[in-house]
Amino acid sequence: MEKYCTNHPFSEAHWYCKKCQTSYCFPCVEKKGFKFTKDDKHVHICPTCKRMVEWTGIGHVSDNVVIATTKALFFPLSPFALIVVVTLYCVGMLFSNNMYINECLFALIWAAIGSYAMTVLDHTIQGRNVTPPFTAVPVPDLFNHVLSVFKQSMIYLFTAVLFFGAMSINNPPLAYAILFIAALIFPLGIMKSLASGSYRSFFDLSSFNKIFMKTGLEYLVIMILFVPVIAIFHLMTVIQPALAVSLACYLMIAIYRLMGQMILKCHVELNYPLNYENFKARYSLETMHGFKA
Ligand SMILES: [Zn+2]
Ligand SMILES: [Zn+2]
Repeated sequence: MEKYCTNHPFSEAHWYCKKCQTSYCFPCVEKKGFKFTKDDKHVHICPTCKRMVEWTGIGHVSDNVVIATTKALFFPLSPFALIVVVTLYCVGMLFSNNMYINECLFALIWAAIGSYAMTVLDHTIQGRNVTPPFTAVPVPDLFNHVLSVFKQSMIYLFTAVLFFGAMSINNPPLAYAILFIAALIFPLGIMKSLASGSYRSFFDLSSFNKIFMKTGLEYLVIMILFVPVIAIFHLMTVIQPALAVSLACYLMIAIYRLMGQMILKCHVELNYPLNYENFKARYSLETMHGFKA
């Protein structure tokens, strides 16, 4: 499978014809309205032999790990994301000696972090490169979005409490073990849950090897970024709470951006059904290079 189209050397190839053994870009394949099954409303055919071409996904054209990671680390500093981070810093200033208010405040802050991070991931796997605006989640999807954020938050909260507990009974080795195991399984667990649409796959570690081999360094970066997030309650006792929550927000946006990129890269291994229509505009000749085929 070639990275670029046979006819357009500057255009990434997303289709492959087995018969001609040729790779094509979006403008090259012909889209035919043809009802195969209920879900498959159209097929794409080879411009040469007129047989069906295969969608090769986008895993083979993803950014390399250094570029992808650098971009993801700067991602939370772009407009909407930065507003979220700064706002949460300001809200974090309201932490006081009142435990009751603090708990409510933390729940509120965490809900905002989790829900924005999830929106970032959704945007990423739809092939979008800008930070999502606050109205990014369509109203009909709102319930599922909130439910998904809630389920993930419970997993985070449970782990964070375990870590904090181990730290407060002066058992750092246990705390670090919790931290390490959580950082190791969280990225895969979340990616699998989102790819399959069910949180039952969270602890299914079956394709860990394949994913880790393919993403290696990127996976390690996510693990490291996860450490302060899982240690959030401990972090809040070490540094200013407002700083801790805004740092957690920055990290969560970067982590979810990276996880989104990893889902795109490993969509085959994760069985995630990528929608080619989402990538059509992004990779078409006009948008990528400013000229027509
Ligand atoms: Zn082409
Ligand atoms: Zn062909």
